[in-house]
Amino acid sequence: MTHLRYLNTTCAVCGESCRFTIPEAASSVGSRDLDTRPAEPLRSTIYAWVKRCPSCGYCAPDPGKARRGAADVVKLPRYRWQLDSRKFPRIANTFLCWSIIQEELGIPAQAAWASLHAAWICDDEGDDVPARICRTRAADLLRRAWEQGERLTSQPGGDEALLVDLLRRAGRLREARAVVVEGLEQNPQSLIADIMRLQDRLIAARDRGVHTVAEARRFKQPTLL
Ligand SMILES: [Zn+2]
Repeated sequence: MTHLRYLNTTCAVCGESCRFTIPEAASSVGSRDLDTRPAEPLRSTIYAWVKRCPSCGYCAPDPGKARRGAADVVKLPRYRWQLDSRKFPRIANTFLCWSIIQEELGIPAQAAWASLHAAWICDDEGDDVPARICRTRAADLLRRAWEQGERLTSQPGGDEALLVDLLRRAGRLREARAVVVEGLEQNPQSLIADIMRLQDRLIAARDRGVHTVAEARRFKQPTLL
């Protein structure tokens, strides 16, 4: 069971006192999804990963801290629109606002993660269209991070595996397939290769659903071991 505690802080943007509910640190038991989403109980703590100042709308993992320039981003029309957009679940808006801050401050890798996390919120709410928008945004930001010489994951081939899942679940199947082909041509380590081959089958079946890393291991093709 996850116990709750509180974070009392002062918003770094507007100076208002805020109190946020945060869960105790949790780990995960079981396989991750192909897009790195952890299993429970960590999975369900996502609702507390990014917090929203109720006064000014600044969204951050710790609203008591702000990078230089963050306060200006909070005022941007695109930020204000996202904060209260009815097209997305409320908590997805919180993640997307945090993503916009990272993007505007020139940190596309972190912006991509925040957008992917927003997609997970949409998944939990059963909102398919906003989930696809969040994944498309995450995929675009991931590629922008590459252009800057940054990667989202430390594992070789990890970013490519993540990009395939973003594209497949966003319904961009042709693009996803192209990344699978390129990824396998790089002769990746076995886990990444297993994931790419599972993705290849899912794309062929036009399957846009959630699947786990454990499935990739299970469907390993003996001839390719
Ligand atoms: Zn504030």
